[in-house]
Amino acid sequence: MSKQDLLNLSIEELQEFCILNNLPKFRATQIWRWMYCFGLNKFNDMTNIAKGTRDALSEIAYISRLDISEIQKSSDGTIKWLLKLSDGSEVETVFIPQEDRGTVCLSSQVGCTLNCTFCHTGTQALVRNLTSNEIIGQLMLVMDHLKDWPSGKNDRKVTNIVMMGMGEPLLNYNEVSKAIKVMMSDDGISLSRRRITLSTSGIIPKIREAGEELGVNLAISLHAVNDQLRDQLVPINKKYNLKALIEACRNYPPLSNSRRITWEYVMLKGVNDSQEDALGLINLIKGIPSKVNLIPFNPWPGSLFETSTKKNIDVFASILMDAGYASPIRTPRGKDIYAACGQLKSSSEKIRKSNLNKLTPIYSI
Ligand code: SAH
Ligand code: SF4
Repeated sequence: MSKQDLLNLSIEELQEFCILNNLPKFRATQIWRWMYCFGLNKFNDMTNIAKGTRDALSEIAYISRLDISEIQKSSDGTIKWLLKLSDGSEVETVFIPQEDRGTVCLSSQVGCTLNCTFCHTGTQALVRNLTSNEIIGQLMLVMDHLKDWPSGKNDRKVTNIVMMGMGEPLLNYNEVSKAIKVMMSDDGISLSRRRITLSTSGIIPKIREAGEELGVNLAISLHAVNDQLRDQLVPINKKYNLKALIEACRNYPPLSNSRRITWEYVMLKGVNDSQEDALGLINLIKGIPSKVNLIPFNPWPGSLFETSTKKNIDVFASILMDAGYASPIRTPRGKDIYAACGQLKSSSEKIRKSNLNKLTPIYSI
């Protein structure tokens, strides 16, 4: 029988695992605390468990850690890990230190099926869902690296999580939600739902479920204010159009004035950055507690867009601000190591490099 990776279990599943293996249920809470409060991955270090039980556990279970292919550090302190998964595919994880917070950007899939035309991840040929242990494993790895154990300290380094790495989290909802529940567990990493953000290109059927079940913050990758343009930039819009998306956001269960929707808007020169676009945006989100994140387009080798000029971005932001919307312009982080939004793309593509040209979306402006 193959050993069970405990990082792949919810607390309820860990309790069942203990009972099935003739261990009392409370052992599950003990093990959980060692794993997620103290970051241990060896049963032998779990000192309140008898030696015989620790040995027995080692026979039937393990606590995984992801393999690192490469670590890159940016001059601005951002760190990017390229991680090798057990099947050889690779994903990226990013840590972004800021004055008042430390954010980990997690991947939810190897590649992405949605092919947004400005996004590097969307050009990756190989795509699969990550499992919950691979998602939570990314966070464990960052916390190990930063020596951020025990979790929940006042000066913790990882304070925020964004599901903004590779992949569309709502197309892998089961595994993503399982991992997020582990992150939020009071007996473990204990990150508040207010500090976790799910970013989606608009998988409408899962938006409400995520709000009800997880109650985390929601970020919507909007990028265009009419269907004609959004169909081209974010092709999933052909299936879930703007009207339906806005309706789903208006009804997002945790939504309130203190829990606003973040609209992500990548600034593409001459494509979506006019004053009419800014006014269209205000009209679209009217009545929804909102903030807008303006993201200067981060180019990648071979990308077909240009970043809007600083002047255009400033004018766009000031129109939003005049209408009462907080609209920070997001400074790209880790630019020198291609760790900024939309630049993540692991080397898994090499596996099918010959197919790449066929799959790379073409968009000319
Ligand atoms: N799939 C999810 C989350 C990952 S992408 C989503 O689309 O929301 C995270 C954010 O980066 C999204 O807002 C995405 O639109 C944006 N992004 C993608 N490529 C980009 C690029 N080249 N420059 C700037 N932002 C980009
Ligand atoms: Fe996928 Fe998000 Fe990139 Fe679109 S922007 S291709 S949904 S990762």
